[in-house]
Amino acid sequence: MKRILVLGAGGFIGSHLVTRLKNNGHYVIGIDLKLPEFSASTADEFVQADLRNPQICEQYITDEIDEIYQLAADMGGAGYLFSGENDFNVMHNSALINLNVSHCAIQAKVEKVFFSSSACIYPQVNQTDPNNPNCEESSAYPADPDSEYGWEKIFSERLYHAASRNYDLNVRIARFHNIYGPEGTWNSGKEKAPAALCRKVAMANQEDTIEIWGDGTQTRSFLFIDDCIDGILALMESDCTEVLNIGSEEMVTINRLAEMIASHAEKSIALNHIDGPIGVMGRNSENSLVTKSIGWIPKVSLAEGLSRTYQWIDSQVAVMEQNG
Ligand code: NAD
Repeated sequence: MKRILVLGAGGFIGSHLVTRLKNNGHYVIGIDLKLPEFSASTADEFVQADLRNPQICEQYITDEIDEIYQLAADMGGAGYLFSGENDFNVMHNSALINLNVSHCAIQAKVEKVFFSSSACIYPQVNQTDPNNPNCEESSAYPADPDSEYGWEKIFSERLYHAASRNYDLNVRIARFHNIYGPEGTWNSGKEKAPAALCRKVAMANQEDTIEIWGDGTQTRSFLFIDDCIDGILALMESDCTEVLNIGSEEMVTINRLAEMIASHAEKSIALNHIDGPIGVMGRNSENSLVTKSIGWIPKVSLAEGLSRTYQWIDSQVAVMEQNG
């Protein structure tokens, strides 16, 4: 049994990760600004605190901790990250957290640290063709992410690598590609495309129209939460110190994503394309390296994952509508 600290434990991926680590028999301490939104945390201890505060990090990152999973970040979907309005906060808040965590992990000689980076670090120039984006790990440089969120992630990847080179901090880094699933935010303004579209379809009547940002030909891949947690744990258990993609290679257009959700809901829905923040035109995970290095491959198809996510969001919408 390890003593594990999950930072960002009140968030979507963090709360699922806490549950898995608990099921695997570990003692888990979660830290976050907020409690998980949709169900109680399964952590042994949950601390509501601000990781931008160095004293908080010093207090909880001690030599009693075996592993840290660092998922805390100021983040959201395209509506949050690409509007330009949150740029300073996104960079400043997340960089402060990573500066504090890396420093304290070195001081406390924590055995292993996981850091969650993002597909948003990949250069925009490689993601202009929706049918042929390049997101191989080795394509990250010369760096040119399309958001300040991506720049902070690439800075922090380098920060943890520097900690590893200069202070022997044992670090694992994954670049997540659009993680989705039940208990992910769906109406906070920070939701991502799958949750936003599930909500719009769930709230629509038969033959209604829903709005899509852009012309809907932009492509993405989406990874179901259970596969993401499998990937994180496989990476942490491995000796691999290279940065790896953790994503799905099942790329679809946003129009197709909306159609799949509508078809699952058995609703005939029309799409109305409006202006909105869309990010790069194409993005897909490239899994050759992750498969070769740690043997991880996603198991849940997009159709299956969307069905499970839609069911959950549909029930959330029903509760919201009941409560007026
Ligand atoms: P999330 O927003 O649900 O979780 C992040 C958590 O960090 C939130 O609960 C938030 O309250 C917490 N947090 C923010 N600032 C904090 C602070 N100062 N002190 C303490 N806690 C703080 O996001 P998520 O989807 O669970 O993502 C987890 C990690 O994975 C993030 O680092 C994110 O950048 C990364 N990531 C996620 C995706 C995705 O598709 N969900 C894709 C790429 C990378």
